[in-house]
Amino acid sequence: MKSYRPIPVTELVQGELDERFMSLLEELPPEIESGVVKCRKRFSTWSDGGHRFHRLSLCRKRQACPIDAKVYAYGLADDAIDVVHRIYSKVGGKLEFGVLDFPLPRDMRSRIEDRELPELRRIGWKVIVDVLGEDGLKLGGVGVYQWWSSSDPMSGHLPHLHMTIFNMAFKDGKRVKVPVFVPREKLDAINAAWQLAVEARWGASKYSATSKSWVVFAHYSGGYGKLRHRLAYAFRHPVVDLYKAMSRGGYVSRPVEGWIRRMLLRPEKEKRVQWFGWMAQRWVYQYARSLSLEVPKKKERERESRKVFCPYCGNELQKIAEGLTREQIDESAMLLVFDEGGGLIG
Ligand SMILES: [Zn+2]
Ligand SMILES: [Zn+2]
Repeated sequence: MKSYRPIPVTELVQGELDERFMSLLEELPPEIESGVVKCRKRFSTWSDGGHRFHRLSLCRKRQACPIDAKVYAYGLADDAIDVVHRIYSKVGGKLEFGVLDFPLPRDMRSRIEDRELPELRRIGWKVIVDVLGEDGLKLGGVGVYQWWSSSDPMSGHLPHLHMTIFNMAFKDGKRVKVPVFVPREKLDAINAAWQLAVEARWGASKYSATSKSWVVFAHYSGGYGKLRHRLAYAFRHPVVDLYKAMSRGGYVSRPVEGWIRRMLLRPEKEKRVQWFGWMAQRWVYQYARSLSLEVPKKKERERESRKVFCPYCGNELQKIAEGLTREQIDESAMLLVFDEGGGLIG
């Protein structure tokens, strides 16, 4: 379930999107720019009969709009957390997760094409399973590939992976707890296996094993709040980083021809997120049932997540008006905002 919280309409600070960023959208089909310009400029009204709220309307151009992209990433993370939470609360285990970020040296980047990125992600998961999963142990996790630099998104193609593993696994149908802290020697083994597998597939790199460009970054953490931020960060669209880089006003690489379009107009079928092991779509329901737990199917969860509930009484809210300007809404009413845990977004 998505989390919303009410703030007074008068506290809404309606900033404009950064002009430098907006000028990038001129390279895209005009309806995208005109859509993003209108993001959060209109309001809808929601009521449960007793309580009434306004909400900001999003533009739904999530590939090109940093606000929609963030809402979307947190929506995906919340859905994942919903499933994880059902399973962990059933078995009563404490949620912990390990994070492994797989980089690639500079000279490997251009060798890996877009269509090969799912394969790169499978290799990342296999490396984890080979090193951390002893015989017959079915780990669970999620892998995401990104193909741009977070800190300098204009600098071009830069494939890398963000993998997350959970401290619950299955062995012979039984649940077992696995440590998600990766000790030094296992991390060294992961580094070596990663380099070996990537070079076997895409050729040797001039960067040696000791070069930091092969070094997998690992840490571990726990709790649902931390997991939510980790997943939303990994799931985010490139526009989020592009916006950050542009609006910060620091150094930004001059992009090669077509790069902006490539970043902001992704094919609809691009699927950067993949669940693995017992958490993979085809396994998770089965493992849940083995714990006498019924996890609702994705479609059902999506239907559920579209519902908006009153933060005061918990009743479902219905939309009773939309397309309202700021002047047309009740200034004394409360605004319901999606809570991404820090910033406030529509
Ligand atoms: Zn938007
Ligand atoms: Zn209510």
